[in-house]
Amino acid sequence: MILIGQLRRLVRDRLREEGLPTPDLDARLLVAHALGMSVSELLLHEDDDVAPEKEAHVHAVCALRLKGMPVGRIAGEREFYGRRFFLNAATLEPRPDTEVLIDAVLARASADHPLTIADIGTGSGAIAVTLLAELPQSCAVAVDVAEDALVAARNNASLHSVLDRLLLVRADYASALGNGYDWLVSNPPYIRQSVLATLSKDVLDHDPILALDGGKDGLSAYRSICTGAARLLKRGGRIALEIGFDQADDVKKTLRHHDFGAIEIIRDLSGNDRVVVGRLE
Ligand code: GLN
Repeated sequence: MILIGQLRRLVRDRLREEGLPTPDLDARLLVAHALGMSVSELLLHEDDDVAPEKEAHVHAVCALRLKGMPVGRIAGEREFYGRRFFLNAATLEPRPDTEVLIDAVLARASADHPLTIADIGTGSGAIAVTLLAELPQSCAVAVDVAEDALVAARNNASLHSVLDRLLLVRADYASALGNGYDWLVSNPPYIRQSVLATLSKDVLDHDPILALDGGKDGLSAYRSICTGAARLLKRGGRIALEIGFDQADDVKKTLRHHDFGAIEIIRDLSGNDRVVVGRLE
């Protein structure tokens, strides 16, 4: 019988031989997932035996990774802002870049002050659920057109004990929402249609196109959101939108056109423009 530690190293070496960029990390995550353990449990039990049927499962999971499936898709979950988020075919895999949006809101909100938040195109619920977990006095509405995304968002809200403060609504952008919100947050689809085909296979084959396709100029979601935002937010309410690295000027213009001021652009860890924040005047 093989030991957990040997199996982990075997998987790591297989992934490395095939030229995958992060073989060590991927092997830990995949073997842990296949054995039904957390990564820390895995490392604690490196000298335990693996039952043959479990070993076969680890090899099957490794084969999926070698075929190009991202780890988050294989595991059906991904970490975001230090929390686990379940994924499904209707949800974008949450990216570390989007954590910049969370920081942008938290830096401008006080945890003791109750806020009402609308998250447009919530997907896995990563943004809304994280904000509610970090702001225990606040409540939110999370909107998505995809029914299955709302299923994932509900599971994630329940996992992180915020479901009692989150309303999930199936709708196109802000069409179904009332008004008086303090914050509107969104990571909308923003990839220009002409660029979609050039995205990496990891993204194209596994992330839902609905969560990526920003129309001809990549800005169609911003136009819809900003039109709704002026009605949805209270005066002085704020908006925080994730943007593509080259969209700051265009999104700023759209926001100004809809009476937003005090516009700030925030960069991600790679130094790219990533989030726009504005206030309804
Ligand atoms: N950041 C994502 C990507 O690079 C795009 C997400 C989006 O369109 N909202 O694939």
